[in-house]
Amino acid sequence: MIQVENLVGGKFSTTEEIIDDISPLNGEVIASIPRTRSVDDAVAIASSAQPEWGALSIADRADWLDKIADALEERIERIAELESLDTGKPYEVSRNVDAARSVYNFRFFAAFGREQKQEIFEMDDATNFVLRKPIGVVGLISPWNLPLYLMTWKIAPALLMGNAIIAKPSEITPLTAHYLGQVCTEIGLPDGLLNIVHGYGPEVGQAIVEHPDIKAISFTGGTATGRIVAATAAPMFKKLSLELGGKNASIVLADADLDKTVPGVLRASFLNSGQICLCGSRVLVHSSIHDEFMQRYLKELESFEIGPVISEEHRAKVLSYIELAQKEGGVILAGGNIPNKPGAWIEPTVIGGLSHASRTATEEIFGPVVTIHQFDTDEEALEMANCTEYGLSGSVWSESRGREIAEQIDSGMVWVNTWLHRDLRVPFGGVKNSGVGREGGTWSLDFFSEAVNICVHEG
Ligand code: NDP
Repeated sequence: MIQVENLVGGKFSTTEEIIDDISPLNGEVIASIPRTRSVDDAVAIASSAQPEWGALSIADRADWLDKIADALEERIERIAELESLDTGKPYEVSRNVDAARSVYNFRFFAAFGREQKQEIFEMDDATNFVLRKPIGVVGLISPWNLPLYLMTWKIAPALLMGNAIIAKPSEITPLTAHYLGQVCTEIGLPDGLLNIVHGYGPEVGQAIVEHPDIKAISFTGGTATGRIVAATAAPMFKKLSLELGGKNASIVLADADLDKTVPGVLRASFLNSGQICLCGSRVLVHSSIHDEFMQRYLKELESFEIGPVISEEHRAKVLSYIELAQKEGGVILAGGNIPNKPGAWIEPTVIGGLSHASRTATEEIFGPVVTIHQFDTDEEALEMANCTEYGLSGSVWSESRGREIAEQIDSGMVWVNTWLHRDLRVPFGGVKNSGVGREGGTWSLDFFSEAVNICVHEG
């Protein structure tokens, strides 16, 4: 039994009321979590710690990011174990996706920070110097699907740009954020820069968004919660980055190389039990290759390993969509059942026969459920891909026309003949109801700083 504690000003403490952290693998309680309701103390401490940190050079702060990366890398197996325990994902996924990327987030932003040059704009009679000043105290709120991966994706650039942090992981998966706090304290990161508070979203999450001294909020989560965050923060003119839900299409054109496409589309469908905002949960296949594609896709699915979904509550939501699909005329082509064992397990499920505009095919399920649709023309494929309220990502599988089709998809990120192939320098974010703003590379540095211009006249 792990006792998760808040980290505020370099000290760990808990609250009188606690929340149970339950394993999706077997339903057992694995940790207790503080039920925090106020962030006033954390913000006061962060505000007093920030100026000294903000006064360091970006190179000095980058050195700290590397120190954190080194410390995490030394403990990478432990991070993967904790992530698997909390989320139920297979150890290999936790090790190679979550833990590896958490280390790399710090390494990447350290190196990227050092590469930054002073921006200067010359005029005939003056020179403009662009400074990137820290914002001050920033609030970081992240979901349960990729806990440390997404939290460090925010922490690394926020620290790099000289801010102090109030971070709130999902209360469903707090273990690795807590561990990160312990590691940062152990290596001597100055107190008060990384404050981690635990509890329920509508309580402590809302308190972060409402706090007047937190000047920017980077939020990753569902679109409905994003709306609440935006409505709360906007009147205070906080900077906002909202990375929200998705319902992404994988489009398989007639000239796709099925040897690459079938495993690629399958991975996009079911990695992390379909609980990645970028997952391709609607597979659109050209009618000329539909039968062959499906036969191979369903065959390869038989040996695809997935973990449970995050909780029994979430599984109930996923199951409700499988029922809805049947009411909407869908046919279960694979899965749909609950394995006979404890925990939040559910078989990977493939559904055919649905309209591309049905609720099942357009609403975010965020689980191992995929709908299959056939098309005859590019126009039809694009109409199907673009018919949801979301616009996060997508993939196109074709030997000759992938890029041409990709450019016509209304999404923030589209892959051609691959999926989740990430270069951390590129913009990451969604259009339509999938979010506002971009993170990644210079977009993260912009978000976590205030660009200020000093114009020096030479006359
Ligand atoms: P939620 O929106 O329920 O929660 C996200 C985070 O916000 C959690 O830490 C949650 O806390 C917190 N929260 C809840 N209510 C509030 C509030 N009123 N104010 C502030 N914070 C609050 O999302 P899930 O955790 O269920 O995550 C799944 C969603 O995240 C999916 O829709 C998925 O698409 C999206 N997502 C988007 C990504 C992207 O990059 N675009 C990447 C990954 C996921 P608590 O857990 O305690 O409720």
